[in-house]
Amino acid sequence: MSNPGIGPSVLRSEVPRFSDYHRYREHLRLDFWFSCAYCTIAEVEARGVGFQIDHHKPRKSSPELLNEYSNLMWTCELCNRRKLDTTPGPAESARGFRFFRPDEDAFADHFALAALELHPQTPVGLYTEQVLQLNREQLRRLRKLRSRLYQAQAQVAEGLRSLSRVRIDQIPPSVRGKAQSLMNRLRERTMGAGEALREALRDSCRSELLDGDPSQAEQASKRRAFLQSLQALPELPVPHANPRPTVRRPPRRDR
Ligand SMILES: [Zn+2]
Repeated sequence: MSNPGIGPSVLRSEVPRFSDYHRYREHLRLDFWFSCAYCTIAEVEARGVGFQIDHHKPRKSSPELLNEYSNLMWTCELCNRRKLDTTPGPAESARGFRFFRPDEDAFADHFALAALELHPQTPVGLYTEQVLQLNREQLRRLRKLRSRLYQAQAQVAEGLRSLSRVRIDQIPPSVRGKAQSLMNRLRERTMGAGEALREALRDSCRSELLDGDPSQAEQASKRRAFLQSLQALPELPVPHANPRPTVRRPPRRDR
């Protein structure tokens, strides 16, 4: 099934080869826009739900793909927990059942979104939606929030389009030069805005809670050194658990 103009939502970058798949973590986060491969929830939207590396073809059935970047997906733990080692059997595969993959499949080929519900359009869509429960309450709430944001963005885009349709010859000659220069500047900025917007959108999906802490090794080494030196530390005075309040008396006056 083809859907002209709409392709896969994930483009994989060129990455070095690693013999331990955990080392692909940061590459995956970036390539998957810091979002789950299946339910699309972004790290920043997930509120306490962790993210994990998923093997699209499970480790159990395809151990040869353990460290293969193209078999790795960035997923929220709720989708990953439902997916586990689930894999369609030969009879199901023959009927077209398998999990959706955002780096090869176009979302709109397999799902239609209506009234906050995903409606599967193919065996791939049906299998993925059913096994991963892609119409769970949390995801319906997320779609509602997103649809409000898209409406606001559409209004801004329509405003910019209207501005670009203004006919310069209908503007009074006294301000025509200034208007023309303003419109030229707007066009220049809009042309460069695509890439900047893409970067900004991707960055807005990232959760800093999942970023590594660059000072972690140094902190750990300091902590280790402190714990090792505890025995050698001099005794420090220990305050009483319930110190009695001291009563202050007025200074005695000599009479
Ligand atoms: Zn998910």
